[in-house]
Amino acid sequence: MGKMLFTKDYEKFFVNDKDLHTKYGYIKIEDINKAKDGDTLLTNLNKEMIVLDPTFADLYSKIKRGAQIVSRKDVGIIITETGIGKDSVVLDAGAGSGALCCFLAHIAKKVITYEKREDFAQIVEKNIKFLNLKNITLKVKDIYDGIDETEFDVITLDLDKPWVVVPHAIKALKSGGFLVSYSPTVPQVMDFINALKTEKSLIHIKTVEILEREWEYIERKVRPMTRMMGHTGFITFVRRL
Ligand code: SAH
Repeated sequence: MGKMLFTKDYEKFFVNDKDLHTKYGYIKIEDINKAKDGDTLLTNLNKEMIVLDPTFADLYSKIKRGAQIVSRKDVGIIITETGIGKDSVVLDAGAGSGALCCFLAHIAKKVITYEKREDFAQIVEKNIKFLNLKNITLKVKDIYDGIDETEFDVITLDLDKPWVVVPHAIKALKSGGFLVSYSPTVPQVMDFINALKTEKSLIHIKTVEILEREWEYIERKVRPMTRMMGHTGFITFVRRL
């Protein structure tokens, strides 16, 4: 990945081997390549642009989307509730666009992700490459048929029928491991939690919904924004005894 340029209003532009053309004018690639982190360049129309090397978060905001992704606010609570970190081995399904599994791979030791659709798997491959992640394995596979591997610290599910995966997850999780299910609707949450009742080795810890309300800050007009994302999904945390 090349450089990132942004305006003082934090409008971001990514540059890859070509001159940057924007509504504010253009900057030649030679000038961008010569610039150091934090330098300010001027477009031909005299708009100031600051040059930076993109971080993981900058690149992550540009990943390709096929399936509906798990949003960052929801990725956040999944990480903090399960404590995923440098020693964690994680299984994820379905990969979808790869948003959740790629973020988890950024902090975990290893991530395996299953996706049943070849077309979505191709998007995930692209995103893994784009983010330069080396510790993630993508399998084109239906997780309802079972899980090949064992000894996972965490399993994350974002698919229609998470309850079908419960018996497979019991075999694939370490003792003390977490099963996390992300579902947009209440009946899915109900059926998932119901499926846990007959499994003595799993305990339902909690189900949460995260609401993120951004504020605007314009001189003395400091207040919550009128629009916010109303609903994404419910996240259910289960632990294997
Ligand atoms: N969490 C993903 C989005 C997942 S969307 C992200 O953040 O990008 C749900 C995905 O699950 C879809 O791509 C769908 O094809 C896949 N899927 C549904 N059922 C599946 C199954 N049984 N096994 C594997 N993948 C499945």
